[in-house]
Order: sequence, then C-alpha cells, then structure tokens
Amino acid sequence: MSETASQAVPRIEAYYAPTSLEEAVEQIAAGDVAIVAGGTDLMVTANGALRRIKRGLMNIRHVPGLDGIAETGGRIRIGALATMTDILESDLLRAKAPILPATADRFASVQIRNAASVGGNIANASPAADMVIPLLCLDAEVELASWKDGAVSTRTLPITDYFTGPGKSKREAGELITAVEFDAQGAGGHAAFFKTGPRPALEIAIVSMGFMARIDGGTLSDIRIAFGAVAPTPIRAPETEKLLDGQTLDDDLIARALESADTEIKPIDDVRGTAWYRRRLARVYLEEELRNVLEG
Ligand SMILES: Cc1cc2nc3c(=O)[nH]c(=O)nc-3n(C[C@H](O)[C@H](O)[C@H](O)COP(=O)(O)OP(=O)(O)OC[C@H]3O[C@@H](n4cnc5c(N)ncnc54)[C@H](O)[C@@H]3O)c2cc1C
Repeated sequence: MSETASQAVPRIEAYYAPTSLEEAVEQIAAGDVAIVAGGTDLMVTANGALRRIKRGLMNIRHVPGLDGIAETGGRIRIGALATMTDILESDLLRAKAPILPATADRFASVQIRNAASVGGNIANASPAADMVIPLLCLDAEVELASWKDGAVSTRTLPITDYFTGPGKSKREAGELITAVEFDAQGAGGHAAFFKTGPRPALEIAIVSMGFMARIDGGTLSDIRIAFGAVAPTPIRAPETEKLLDGQTLDDDLIARALESADTEIKPIDDVRGTAWYRRRLARVYLEEELRNVLEG
C-alpha cells in the first residue's frame, strides 16, 4: 500500500461496545475514543480521511436508555439514538410535534434514515443539519452526560445556544449526548418544514426552513422560524418572529417579514449554492409559508 493510501486508512486500535451509561462516559473520559451511533456521518469522514479518526471506536448502540421517544410530565424526550425512521413513525410525535416527522420525511433515503440518529445529527453540528431545524423551533434542550468525580454527571443546554460554528458546539470533549427534550405544550400548532438540495434524493440542504405558529383567524402568535445552511450554525430568526407576533397577515406585513429575515441570515457561497441563491430560497420559503397561512 502506498504511503498516501495507508495514511488515508484510519487505524482503529480498540473497539468498545459499552452496555451501561457509566461504562460509556467513563471510557470517553479515559481515552482517545470516537463515538459511533448510526455511523452515517462518521464513516464518510473516516473513509475520506478528512480528519484523523481517533484510535478507539465506541459503539453506543448497546447503552440502555439512549433510545426511545416518550412523554413524561408534559415534556417529550427523544433519546439520542432515536433514528429518523423512529421519528417518522412515532405516533406520539405525529400527534404532538408534527414538525419532527415532517422533517424526518425529507431526510436522506430510507436506508440512511434507518441508521441516522438525532444525537449524531446534533453532534455533527453541520449548519445544514435537518433535524436541528425543528428542534430549534421547539426550543429543545440537549442533555449531555460525562464522567465527573467517579460518577455520571448530566447537564442540559438550550439548542438555541448550543452551536458555535460549523462543526462546533458547546459540547465538551468528554460529553455524550443522551437525549433532547422539549415542552409538549406548544409543539402541536401549525408547523411546516422546507428544504431544497442539489438533487431530488439524498440531498444535504442548500437551505432549509422550519416554521411554527399559532394561528387564530389570520393572527399569528408563538411564532418560531428557523433556517439551516444560511449561517455558520442553524439559526432562529428572532427579529422576524417579533415582527410577526400578534399581527394579522397582509401583503405589507409579508413584505416586511421577508426584508427582516433577509437581514437575519448570513449565507455564503459554497459547492452547493451561492449566497445569492440561498437568500432567494430563504425568501421564497418564508413567502410561500406566510401566503399559505394567509390563504388558510
Ligand atoms: C447519503 C447520506 C445522506 C445524508 N442525508 C442527510 C440529510 O438529508 N439531512 C441531514 O441532516 N443529514 C444527512 N446526512 C448526514 C447524517 O446522516 C446525519 O447527520 C445523521 O443524523 C448522523 O447520525 P449518525 O447516528 O449516523 O451519526 P454518526 O455518524 O454515528 O456520528 C456523527 C458524529 O456525531 C458523534 N456522535 C454520534 N452520536 C453521538 C452522541 N450521542 N453523543 C456525542 N457524539 C455523538 C460521532 O462521534 C460523530 O462525530 C446524510 C449522510 C449520508 C451519508
């Protein structure tokens, strides 16, 4: 094997498959370990040798408590290992937070959906991560576990404050994402997810948008608008939300909302699309959605 080829093959020296959360986070704290859930991001990275994979690989799929979608005490909890298929097929989410299955329905292919986890989508911290968009709209919290002073320690971070840049977040090196949670109340109003990719299937978003609102006779309240792939991180559009809140939609308000959203996004040119095209798409999505609401 040539030197270049051997450098491209990651050397995995240890494989771990912990069967408890304690074992998992203790091992993460102890070593040079890459976490693998569905592997749909990690294996592409490893194959392309874009980044050296760590020496140890930890499969977290046997850790109990990291899967499942359930409601307790008015909060909906989605385990980090829940796949896009789990989200798509969840009766609870279809009834109480339909923006999540609507997003899973636009995610990759059936094969990828069967493996891709919500925890992996968040951990990868891509500005184009689809499932982050509805979670931003839902004001979800990310639960993180780590090993501190000989025990499992957990903390939660609001997802609106979680991402710091492309591929970057406030998750510390020793932390495992265990779940996302959000209030069930408020999750069930009007909701929509939009996405365009460079091809009709298996697309990474050029732009995505999530929209949630309460609508009472044309008046909007509790508005949440999130955009993907138009800034260094997935973002909410708080100024546009404020502008629309409590207002009755008409042509003038829609025009002002489109101008406002345009000032909140910071798209760049890249291989998937130009900044100009991204601004155009963001505008088209928001206008389409506001006109859908206006026209009932
Ligand atoms: C063909 C193809 C199509 C795709 N289409 C889409 C798409 O439409 N939309 C989209 O958003 N993405 C898409 N992706 C990207 C990918 O499928 C998603 O980001 C997926 O959710 C990643 O989840 P995973 O379980 O496979 O993560 P993995 O690949 O297992 O892990 C991804 C990263 O997160 C870390 N990690 C995983 N789980 C945890 C955890 N619980 N705690 C801490 N760190 C963790 C891993 O160490 C790794 O760095 C696509 C990928 C492929 C290959």
